[in-house]
Amino acid sequence: MLREDGRVALPDEAAMVDFGMRLAAVAGEGGVVFLHGDLGMGKTTLCRGVLQGRGHRGAVKSPTYTLVEPYETEGGKVYHFDLYRLGDPEELEFLGIRDYLDGEALCLIEWPERGAGILPSADLEIEIGVEGQGRWLAWQYNTAKGRRLADKLSSDDASVAQGDEV
Ligand code: ADP
Ligand code: MG
Repeated sequence: MLREDGRVALPDEAAMVDFGMRLAAVAGEGGVVFLHGDLGMGKTTLCRGVLQGRGHRGAVKSPTYTLVEPYETEGGKVYHFDLYRLGDPEELEFLGIRDYLDGEALCLIEWPERGAGILPSADLEIEIGVEGQGRWLAWQYNTAKGRRLADKLSSDDASVAQGDEV
């Protein structure tokens, strides 16, 4: 549930997967989503939830060495990036980054900071931090598409909260 501090509490891994599935449900038109947060915060776990939400049934591995893992899902293309080991942002040009980001695909990008200067801005940025044994998560938008996404996430969240009260 969205709190007054603009964060949602995700007490365990299952809650993170669940949030990913909600993101998949509201991101039908695709877009670029940056995932901020230290190693071990649950960024890949969230991506697993998104892919599950899109109907992907196989494994989801961290594309730490390949930088990007493409998925053709029932809900459309999903590109999962992990730029942790990106040596130089210029490498993204060789990867043909724009072809990935410009289409209708949903692009999830871990460690977007490593691509600074070359990566275009995201529609939506998600930040994850530690809270007790679990995590907090917050989002902000930079574009009209991101705003639609954020609005849907927030209203979806309100209906989840209402459901809880019944
Ligand atoms: P990252 O990709 O950010 O490095 P991972 O997705 O690999 O992080 O997750 C690291 C660990 O955090 C995993 O053991 C995962 O189960 C755990 N984890 C993910 N989300 C949560 C959460 N909301 N609460 C507690 N543990 C979580
Ligand atoms: Mg990861």
